[in-house]
Amino acid sequence: MSEWYEEICVKKMSDTIYRITNPTGEHMFLILGESRAALIDTGAGYGDLWKAIRSVTDLPVTLYNTHVHPDHVGGNGFFREAWIPEHDRELIANATSWKGRVGFMKIALSDWREEFEAIPHVEVPDDFIWHGLKDGDRIDLGGVVLRAIETPGHTKGSMCFLHESEKILFVGDLLGRKTTLLARGGTSVTVFLETLRNLQEMLPEINELYNSHNEGIVPKEVVWNLLSLCIDILNGKDDKIPILFNHHPGYMAKRMKNALEREDGKFGNLSYDPEKI
Ligand SMILES: [Zn+2]
Ligand SMILES: [Zn+2]
Repeated sequence: MSEWYEEICVKKMSDTIYRITNPTGEHMFLILGESRAALIDTGAGYGDLWKAIRSVTDLPVTLYNTHVHPDHVGGNGFFREAWIPEHDRELIANATSWKGRVGFMKIALSDWREEFEAIPHVEVPDDFIWHGLKDGDRIDLGGVVLRAIETPGHTKGSMCFLHESEKILFVGDLLGRKTTLLARGGTSVTVFLETLRNLQEMLPEINELYNSHNEGIVPKEVVWNLLSLCIDILNGKDDKIPILFNHHPGYMAKRMKNALEREDGKFGNLSYDPEKI
């Protein structure tokens, strides 16, 4: 019997897309081309990531990160280098520190206990190489192309990756049941609104939105729902429910009926800093 912190799940989503889920719940995506594969994010760094990857493919794998938070780059130490959003560089030190990772684990694991600090995990070494990604960068895996799209909001640099032939957009933490602008590096509501307007224009050419937490997929309507929340916030018409996100005070825009669902039944909520409208 393996321990809970060793359990990595692999799910085939299509011929070229596999979803890898960490024991702490974060989703990563492995995209296969003819000559190489891309891994999107590495989770918090628990479990044997290479065993999961090698159960799918023997291709060389290049690592890309949607943004630089501990639950997305925590496992980067399984690699020697990664491509990250250029504008998230200032987040590297915190995201790779043990303090940053414990901060995430306290949010992810409601039963967090100090002894969890002793759980085996991978460290990101000091000589790790961080390459910068910029908007529009094209990632050719051989027959499969991913396009990097800068989408500031959850962090200043946040990138989405568009799988051009399957029309899947990998959104990281940009869109979810509880999108937050309160985490380290988050932007103002106004900047996020601009990103959502750009995404809205792209939506007709996108089949599915895959994200990094909970179900790993969000309905397209989340873009409109978050967009209208941003407009409500800017007009002072949201519910303004006080919350603390990893010690950072802010507001949840709409009242929740439980940990994941809005009271009004619409998909997607937004937390933000009232000082950064
Ligand atoms: Zn994040
Ligand atoms: Zn995350």
